[in-house]
Amino acid sequence: MNRLLNKVALISGGAKGIGKYTAQLFAKEGASVIIGDKDLLTCKKIATDISSEGYQCSALYLDVTKESDWVNTISDVMSNFGKLDILVNNAGIYSTIPIEKTPLEDFNNVISVNLTGMFLGTKHAIPALRAAGGGSIVNMSSTAGLVGNIGSGAYGASKGGVRSFTKYTAIQHAIESIRANSIHPGPIDTDMLADKLANLESRAASESKVPMGRIGTVDEVAMAILFLASDESSYITGAELAIDGGLTAR
Ligand code: NAD
Repeated sequence: MNRLLNKVALISGGAKGIGKYTAQLFAKEGASVIIGDKDLLTCKKIATDISSEGYQCSALYLDVTKESDWVNTISDVMSNFGKLDILVNNAGIYSTIPIEKTPLEDFNNVISVNLTGMFLGTKHAIPALRAAGGGSIVNMSSTAGLVGNIGSGAYGASKGGVRSFTKYTAIQHAIESIRANSIHPGPIDTDMLADKLANLESRAASESKVPMGRIGTVDEVAMAILFLASDESSYITGAELAIDGGLTAR
């Protein structure tokens, strides 16, 4: 399968979970993949594993909250690959603290990684995507960006911001064929969910909220990211796609 043949794709937060699986899938679909993460050691190992299977993948240090890191990342991509076609703003953190107990620092930290990080990535990728004649930005929101839930509120606020910012990006850059869409997963089996299940609600309680009655898998999310990243979705921009077993359809 070569659904991303000749594409250059940058994925933030690619060291584990959804980002890691998306990197593997993109590489198998023919893309040159660059994964950026704060956890450079793990990121390098994943890139080596993917490359050892005969695919193209490299790793770099990226803290999505730092503008200088984004400048360096895009510059690295351009000098090593000559272009950028796809950006997946995937890096994210969660917070389980109830609203009235949430320290300001914690709230700001969640906003900084999940929302500001996505803004900075978009800002610095746009000139590169424009130079490539267009491209696709896939932003990782959540069902928490569509409906309310228990927790700190910072996560929901950040993911709601991602949803809205995605539509602004889509409108402002549609004429340049730079597309932007948001993905809204429900509970997906990763370390982030494990943290939520350890602190907020049991696995059974989480599953019982989902009409399909189960937690989703990383490949179920990655397949949707692949579609929105590829030219198969060439007339789709500003859209939001829930991957949630029906959670938000009620
Ligand atoms: P994860 O915790 O397994 O992986 C997150 C990755 O982001 C890690 O590799 C981590 O090192 C990286 N990261 C964190 N802060 C960073 C920073 N400042 N700069 C660069 N990298 C950073 O999480 P996941 O479940 O794979 O989540 C991926 C995305 O999907 C997140 O945006 C998350 O909010 C979203 N999401 C997850 C679920 C779920 O249930 N797992 C549901 C909805 C949305």
